[in-house]
Parts: sequence; C-alpha cells; structure tokens
Amino acid sequence: CFCKLEGRIDDCTCSVDTVDFFNNNKIYPRLKSLLVRNYFRYFKVNLNRACPFWPDDSKCAIKDCSVKACSEEQIPPGIKRPSFGERNKNTANKSLNKYSKEAQEEDNCDENHGGLGAVDKTISEKSKEDFKQWQKHDDSQDIFCEIEDELSQGMQYVDLLINPEKYTGYKGPSARRIWRSIYEENCFKPGKGYGPYTTSKNLNAMCLEKRAFYRAISGLHTSINIHLCAQYLMPIRNSFGSGEWSINLKEFQRRFDPQQTFGEGPQWLKNLYFVYLLELRALAKAAPYLERELFYTGLDEEDKEVQMAVKDFLSIVKSFPDHFQESVMFVGKDEGAKKLKEEFRQHFRNISRIMDCVGCDKCRLWGKLQTQGLGTAMKILFSGDQDSDLHMSDVKKEKFQLTRIEIVSLFNAFGRLSNSVYQLENFRKMMKEL
Ligand code: FAD
Repeated sequence: CFCKLEGRIDDCTCSVDTVDFFNNNKIYPRLKSLLVRNYFRYFKVNLNRACPFWPDDSKCAIKDCSVKACSEEQIPPGIKRPSFGERNKNTANKSLNKYSKEAQEEDNCDENHGGLGAVDKTISEKSKEDFKQWQKHDDSQDIFCEIEDELSQGMQYVDLLINPEKYTGYKGPSARRIWRSIYEENCFKPGKGYGPYTTSKNLNAMCLEKRAFYRAISGLHTSINIHLCAQYLMPIRNSFGSGEWSINLKEFQRRFDPQQTFGEGPQWLKNLYFVYLLELRALAKAAPYLERELFYTGLDEEDKEVQMAVKDFLSIVKSFPDHFQESVMFVGKDEGAKKLKEEFRQHFRNISRIMDCVGCDKCRLWGKLQTQGLGTAMKILFSGDQDSDLHMSDVKKEKFQLTRIEIVSLFNAFGRLSNSVYQLENFRKMMKEL
C-alpha cells in the first residue's frame, strides 16, 4: 500500500512508525480534549483583508465555504477585548499589545508606562531597557509570518468547533493560483538546470534549510488535503436530497497514489511527518514558557483545568524520543547563514500574506490559522539561542513572549497535523480491506 510509509522521515532521524505510535496513542487523544476548551476554540482573525498580490479574485459563493462568526456574548469575559472604536477612544497613544497574559491587564495600565503593558510595572529600569531591546529585536527579526494585531479593525472571533476544516468544493483556477504562487514563487529553487517544480529527485540539490522550507509547506498542503478527503461531501443523495459527509478513499487515492501523482504522493505524505516533527519540537522547546501561561479566560475553574491539561500534554511532548534538530539549521555566524535565515523568514512571511488571497472563507480561516501556527513554531525554533530549550530565566526576564493568537494558532495547527496523522491510519485500514 502506498500509504504504508516505511523508514526514516527525510531530514530527521526519527521513523514514521515512532510518530504513528506516539501520536495516535498519546498526543491525539490529549489534543482532542484540550482544543475544545474555551481558550483554544475562539480564534480572532480578519477574513476580509484584501489580497495584496492580485486584485481580481472574488470570493466563492459555495455554502460550505462560509464561516459563521461568533456573537460577542459567546466569548468568555477574559478573552474578550474592547472593540477597535471603543479602545481608540480611551487609549489613543498606547502601543499595540503583543503579550498574552499581560494583554488582559493592559487597559488598567496608565499611560506613563510608555505603552509597554502591565508587565512593565513589575520590572526594573535595566530590564526595561533589555525588554525594549527585545521588543525591537523581536518585531524586526523573529516574526516569520503576518500576525494580525488583535485590536485592529475587521478582526472577529470565530468558533473553530462550528467551522471545522473539511471539504468545501474550493478548487479550480483560484486554488491552483494560490498553490502555484506558493511553490513556484515562494519556495526555494534548486538552481539552474532544474525545472520550476520541486520534486523528491531535485530536492537534494538544495541545502537542508531550503529543503526544510519546502517539506514544511508540502506537509501543510498534505494535511489540508487529507482533511478534505476525511470529511468529504459525497454526491450520493440521501432521503433529504442533500449529499452525505463521509471519508472518501477514492479522493485520497487520486491525491496521493504514486501512479496518479508522478510518483510524488508518498513523498508528500512523508512531508506531513516532517512538519509534524517541526511543530512538536517547537512545543517542546517552548514548554517552560507554556507551563507558566495562565490560559486566561476569566473562568477560574476552567483556567485551572486547562493549565493542568496543558502541563500533562507538554510532559508527553517532551518525552518524545527523537526530536527534530533545529540546532543544525542556520549554523555559523557568517553573513551567509544570516542571509539565508532572512530569506527563509521573508519567503514564509510572503506565504502567510498569500492566505488573504484564498477565495473560500473556510479555507482562508484554516489556511491563516495553520500558517500562523507554523510561523509561531519557526519563531520559537529559530529566534534567540537555537541550541537550547527556553530556560526559565529567559521566560522570567521576559526575553520571550507569545500573544494569545500565536498560542491558539500553534496548538490548533499542531492539532490539525496530529489529526492528519491519525486519519492516515484510517485510510491505511480501508486500503487493506480493499
Ligand atoms: P491541489 O491540492 O490544488 O494541488 C495543486 C498541485 O500541487 C497538484 O497538482 C500537485 O502537483 C501539487 N501538490 C499537491 N499536493 C502536494 C503536496 N502535498 N506537496 C507538494 N505538492 C503538492 N479545499 C477544501 O475542500 N477544504 C479546505 O479546507 C481547503 N483549504 C485550503 C486552504 C488553502 C490555503 C488552499 C490554497 C486551498 C485549500 N483547499 C481546500 C483547496 C485544496 O487544497 C485543493 O486546492 C483543491 O481541492 C483542488 O485540488 P487539486 O487536485 O487541483 O490539487
């Protein structure tokens, strides 16, 4: 069976079997119960930003492409923020709030604190300076994707549970243009003498970092397409005259069978494991930070339960035997390594902006969430000291911060990958029974 993948995951030391076992038995069940909690289910996003690259793409009118926004009453008090207009009236000159826990308190903070938020009150003058340095540094060098300001106009809360990622019918020239632009214009090329497409054969003509970039994008693409195959609107008419949602093995085979994909399908499936390992490592690296996070919603009991559940989940993440090694990437202090990292960052940032060109709202929602999650993983892996985990001292010194949007997108993006690895097992079982 082409989907029974064997051996090592490319550019990693870990095997497919190890990930399957670990994910399906330990990670997947924990994430399933964690991601339905209030902190993680409400995602703030702007789905109406204009496409910055081409003007002529209209939104699709297919029913399954639409996204149901949340009413304000639904959102727990600790997550909710004042609306843009309201906030502008009261806090005209404050800087935009980047912080998660502190973000909840910023509105109680007086203007004399230079707009750095409530955290500013608790730190000394010297660390204030370091903090400002970090803030400047982080904004300019460690942001790998376009993260929207929570307080900007057009942001709305979406309940991810009532807008699941599944088949929407979005395809044709618009979807093709997005993927083509991502692969042909924003992934790295092997160089002269090779065609415009990256294939498993010419991938080895590139350095590790450029291969990793392609594998991460391709793995994300695989995950999106596995989800649409796992929840597909079958054309069979039921007694109500509508289609039926179910798993579609034929669609899965069309997308990944080597005979129908010029031999590439199994490689694309393996890339799912690559991006899974990348995000898993980011979670492990950020564990000391995430273990201190309050996951504040204003509902005390629930917040405590979520803190405990996250700690339990992170203990499993840390126990994974064979983590992705980010420390071998962008090594060397020379200009070459720096330039490569900057290109890597710019290319990924561009891809996150392309998400505003996706013509289907549901696909745009999940595309944005997953690229933001991957961008957050890259920020964790490639900013600061790449060799070590984030130490408690860094966390205490506020050298490292994540916003609520970053945390929610990181956990949910990894949840999508975990679900894809789990779904793959179902496809394997179905193939075996054929
Ligand atoms: P596509 O998936 O469009 O692929 C285009 C080409 O890319 C293929 O012909 C192949 O050469 C290559 N390719 C395919 N897979 C890979 C891979 N893993 N790695 C490398 N190259 C690959 N549709 C939904 O129904 N639900 C969704 O939630 C959804 N979300 C989307 C989110 C985004 C950001 C985008 C851009 C599209 C989304 N779509 C979604 C559309 C879906 O991904 C496909 O584009 C669509 O189903 C048409 O599929 P296709 O067969 O033409 O091939």
